[in-house]
Amino acid sequence: MSKEKAEQENQKTYQLDTKLTHTGNHPDNYHGFVNPPVVHASTVLYPNYETMRTRGQKYTYGTKGTPTTDALCEVLDEMEGSAGTVLVPSGLAAITIPLLAFVSGGDHILVLDSCYGPTRDFCDDVLVRMGVDVEYYDPLIGAGISKLMRDNTSVVFTESPGSNTFEIQDIPAICKAAHERNAIVMIDNTWATPLYFKPLEHGIDISIHALTKYPAGHSDLVLGSVSANEKCWKKLQRHHGIMGCCASPDDTYLTLRGIRSMGVRIREHEKNALEIAKWLEEHPAIATVLHPALPSHPQHELWQRDFKGSTGLFGFTLKTDDMEKAARFYDALNIIGRGYSWAGYESLAVLVNLSDRKIAKGTGDGILVRLNVGLEDPIDLKADITQALRAGGFIN
Ligand SMILES: *Cc1c(COP(=O)(O)O)cnc(C)c1O
Repeated sequence: MSKEKAEQENQKTYQLDTKLTHTGNHPDNYHGFVNPPVVHASTVLYPNYETMRTRGQKYTYGTKGTPTTDALCEVLDEMEGSAGTVLVPSGLAAITIPLLAFVSGGDHILVLDSCYGPTRDFCDDVLVRMGVDVEYYDPLIGAGISKLMRDNTSVVFTESPGSNTFEIQDIPAICKAAHERNAIVMIDNTWATPLYFKPLEHGIDISIHALTKYPAGHSDLVLGSVSANEKCWKKLQRHHGIMGCCASPDDTYLTLRGIRSMGVRIREHEKNALEIAKWLEEHPAIATVLHPALPSHPQHELWQRDFKGSTGLFGFTLKTDDMEKAARFYDALNIIGRGYSWAGYESLAVLVNLSDRKIAKGTGDGILVRLNVGLEDPIDLKADITQALRAGGFIN
């Protein structure tokens, strides 16, 4: 066994935090430098015709992977327990690429109603134009999804918790029902990261990440990954090659840099978010808090069964139906920014619009705010929320 292989075998037994810290780094290959180089590449040279003809070397072309992308894919495979991972230019591309790989015209697919908004836009536009029958299902359906399965159902798309309304799905039950009818099950696993939920262990075939979020963690890039089990890997890899959707070397490197500290960052986000969520739950201006780690969450037990922790994104509803009043609260926030995306070091809030939902319409109780709790001191975040609630006329 080569030294590198032996090293990889050893790493399989490591705890997740140790894997996060070490996997993918091969200092022996780079004169002892701890991190891999940022390889900017189109052309890779071959020694002779025979090597070209047989593609008989590890690297063949810039779009097909480099030592930099391999390093990040290696960490993700180790964390997800996947057979292979591809990198794509954004989290959204990490959704569209596997859907295009596994769905054909004439197929029926099942997508949770509380999917990430742009997932729905892609399905309703591109997939529908391809002649795909897209059906949205109740995220809480669980084993009941077997009733929706048809002979031509090729993919069941999941996301847990659901975007903005934070339903926890019964992933093992959904996978069982889907596999009985030979469908592929995909998950958008961005919220939990493989640190807190390992989808392939629960039956999922393809795990999707917006690496933009916790892995990169600094609001300075967009990148995505798709990790597949043995059954789906070859098809995913081939399709990724066909689509030409590869990742930039610098963004890949920055994500690799970010993922080394992801464990400590997530635990801090988790702690801060729980402190704010518990405080909001007791607050007279707040109707509901949607956070899977709170005992009040309707699927708290499912979350406890399947997840190892919670992250920094959750929802709460303001006790009002007056959008202008909610906007006054929102506009008065100082530390907490108004902006999309999440999982960066800085706190952000979004006033959520659920008008595209057919089934998962939230609690129906007040106006929904999605909060990304960053790494600021929760004392200051509570003070910011308090002054904004006062500005909005929610408290005196
Ligand atoms: C942000 C996000 C994406 C998309 O990621 P981008 O890199 O911004 O394209 C996909 N899924 C979920 C759940 C997200 O939060």
